[in-house]
Amino acid sequence: MSDCLFCRIVAGEIPATVVQQTDRALAFRDINPVAPTHVLVIPKEHYRNAGALAAGDPGLLGEVLRLADAVAEEEVLVSGDDVDPGYRLVANTGPQAGQSVDHVHFHVLGGRSMGWPPWPPH
Ligand code: 5GP
Ligand code: ZN
Repeated sequence: MSDCLFCRIVAGEIPATVVQQTDRALAFRDINPVAPTHVLVIPKEHYRNAGALAAGDPGLLGEVLRLADAVAEEEVLVSGDDVDPGYRLVANTGPQAGQSVDHVHFHVLGGRSMGWPPWPPH
């Protein structure tokens, strides 16, 4: 997937601020943060969305989610059994949800309170 932006970040062809990684997953800061903590967590292998990853490699999905929580711990959003102040994990799928990069990514968002629903109806 040489034309995929996040595959190119994994390959080191496009710079990114990496915060943590495992052999198979990468966490790096979003270029346009919408919260004090805004980190993207991805599998290094290309899957187009969370459903494809869950179907194709559920173990890797677990590894990606574990890395997301480890990032939240490092950012002092959670610690051990304590979930305060907490964080939001978002995976947009498809255009109506606002997915703009077709390589599955989980947004780890934290450091401010967030409303629900995430966007007002229009
Ligand atoms: P989506 O809109 O698909 O849910 O999220 C894509 C995210 O990727 C956006 O939050 C956007 O700011 C981020 N993004 C787009 N291009 C780059 C880039 O080149 N580097 C980094 N670090 N983030 C990017
Ligand atoms: Zn990719």
